[in-house]
Formats: sequence, structure tokens, C-alpha cells
Amino acid sequence: MPGFEVFGDEERKQVNDVLESGVLMRYGFDGMRNGHWKAKEFETAFAAKMGSKYCQLVSSGTSALTVALASAGVGAGDEVIMPTFTFVASFESIIALGAVPILVDIDDTLTLDPKSVEAAITSKTRCVMPVHMCGSMADLKALKGICDRHDLLLLEDACQALGGTYDGKPLGSYGDLGCFSFDYVKTITCGEGGGIITNSEKYSINADQYQDHGHDHFGNDRGAETHPTLGYNFRISELNAAVGIAQLGKLDDILAIQKRNYTIIRQALASVQGVTFRRVPEGGVENYSFLNFFLPSEELTQKAYKNLSETGVDACFYWYTNNWHYINGWEHLRNLNSLGSLPSEVKNQMQDLNAADFSKSDAWMRRTISSLIKIGWTEDDVKERAKKMVKILSEVTNN
Ligand SMILES: *Cc1c(COP(=O)(O)O)cnc(C)c1O
Repeated sequence: MPGFEVFGDEERKQVNDVLESGVLMRYGFDGMRNGHWKAKEFETAFAAKMGSKYCQLVSSGTSALTVALASAGVGAGDEVIMPTFTFVASFESIIALGAVPILVDIDDTLTLDPKSVEAAITSKTRCVMPVHMCGSMADLKALKGICDRHDLLLLEDACQALGGTYDGKPLGSYGDLGCFSFDYVKTITCGEGGGIITNSEKYSINADQYQDHGHDHFGNDRGAETHPTLGYNFRISELNAAVGIAQLGKLDDILAIQKRNYTIIRQALASVQGVTFRRVPEGGVENYSFLNFFLPSEELTQKAYKNLSETGVDACFYWYTNNWHYINGWEHLRNLNSLGSLPSEVKNQMQDLNAADFSKSDAWMRRTISSLIKIGWTEDDVKERAKKMVKILSEVTNN
């Protein structure tokens, strides 16, 4: 997945354009910037690539989620439905607005289970936030049906699935809003950065203003701009945006290498009895940044994970216990450990996550191993890795 593996002269050239003028800010200083508007240039190119009308670049994927929610008017007490398997940014961005994260189960897609989503809807629900974890997507058609019936926003977190598609559309462009991360370990990177895409002019104007202190961005005198609403600073710098322009130019090549590497390993693992693969919803195409598979039981999965790690098959993840991408790792959220007092809406409306039953999610996560797909691997590296994985997994499942 990581675009940092292909950092090179193209990125350096883009960054040098900015360093030569010294204008590191995306707004203003028109006369000094030698015609370089890197953030703007990235937004135009990314929106086109995603088949969306608008793109707003911000400082991180986490801020993209925050700004996206804010731009659609999500605020204190509004409930946002999110999965148990995701990155911590999901609930961070929701709580940052005083909104309330409602956690629901995943299914064998390793993303939101539509039935659990429907069961969690209350009169306060405003938004459903599927997270396309590890390169594959939620059942967007089912989720959109639910959102349409209940008049809810559909906000896709596509931070880990850039380049995947659903129903012929780029992931992130199917819902009302889509969010991406360009942090250092994502498919393409800005160093740090994030992006929001939407076809809604209203949300795009709101996002543009909210991420820059509410500035209306009319005219060319920043100091004289008005501020229609309260905002914040989630701006990206020109240096980060410049890196992103070069990386975006490499996206198609990155995806092609991921697909090649993924396919070699997947075909090899398919021969191992007992290994099954994560379900990809009909009409979906992965971005091939991870290969996600199941073993028959928790015990065998833990053993397989241990043996893979100990024999040098790196970049495998057992999320159930070994990481902080699953609710098991979020003690701070379960106990609402915050520095200051949280908004009363969050305290009053949140589920008791220590008591909640996520056995449906557990049943899948206990048996899931994800292998990152690196783009630096040669075809020979990948074949060697596939062979090792087949050997280890066959030994584990045969005993
Ligand atoms: C990386 C990531 C984010 C947050 O992105 P940052 O740029 O690191 O803030 C959000 N959601 C998911 C699923 C991610 O993987």
C-alpha cells in the first residue's frame, strides 16, 4: 500500500517548485508564488480522477472526516453509525464535533453489516460511516438503500481503499461524501494530508470555509474576507500538497503492482484447505492494498499468525488482539478517558462499550489475518513469500 516506497525525483521536483518561491501557504501571496498553487492543482486533479465535482484537501485523513461531517451539518448530539473494525480516527472525528459514535458489528466483508446498521438507527441518527478497511468495501448499495429510506447521510471512509471501485464508481464517490488519507503509510502520501470529495456544491463550500477559520475565500485580500460561519484550521501546506501531486501521478502504477502482487499470493493461498477469503460485495473491485483471509478457528489463526511472524513473513496483521484497529484495543474509548470533560451529549448517548455485545464482529475478527501488499516487492519476492505462506498455513490447518 505505501506510496512512500516510490518517493523519488518527481516528488522532489514538486517540492522544489514551492521551496524556490518560499510560499508555503496555499492562500494569498499571489505575486510571489511563481504561479504555483499546489493544493488547488491537487484538488482539481484528484476530483477528476475520482469522477467527483469537488475535492477539498486538508491536513489529514482525520481532519477530512471531521470537516466532511461538519460540512454536512453534523453537530452535538447527532449520532453517527460506524463499524467496530476501523482506525481510531472514525470516533475521534465524530466526538470532536460533539456528535456521538454508535458502534455496530461488521460481517464477512470486514465492514459495516447492513442489518446491524438498520437496527442501530434512532431518531438522532444523522449519518452512516462505512469504513473500507484494508482495500475492500462495504455493501454500499445496501447501505445507500438504508440511508435513503431513513434520510441519512452516507459518508465513506475510503482512506485505506483509494483506487478501489464499486458499481463502476471510485470508492469514496458513491456516498454523499468520501474521505481519504494521504498520511505516510497510505496508497499515496503527502507526508501528512487528507481529502474530501463530494458532488454537493453546498458541502464543498462549507468544507472550504470550515477548514480555514470560516473564511469565505472571496476576492484576493485575505484580511478583508468575511466569515459566514465558525470554522477551524485544518489547512494543508503547499509542501505537502506538492508531494501529493507527484504521488497522484504514480497511482495507476501503484495499483497495477498491488494487483499483480495480491493476485500471486491469493492464487497460491487458494490451494490451502481451510483458508477462505474476505467477501467482496457484488460489483466491488478491491484496491489490492491488503490480502485478507480467514482460517477455520481462532486457535488456528493465532497459531498461523505466530508462525508467519516467526518465519520472517512480515507485514501480516492479526487485528483481533495485536493492534488498535479493533474495539478490543480501544480501552480509552470504552472508558471515555478524555483530558477535559466531554460534551454531555457524548456522555449521555454513548453505548456502554464495556457491556456491548459485539460477538458477531468477534467471530470474524478472531479468524482474520491481513497481509499488507507492498509495492517494493519484485515478482520473485512475491512468489517466494507466497510459497512460505502456503507452507506455514498448510502445516497449521493440517494438524
Ligand atoms: C489512516 C486512516 C485515517 C486517518 O488518516 P490520518 O491521515 O492518519 O489522520 C482514517 N481512517 C482510516 C480507515 C485510516 O486508515
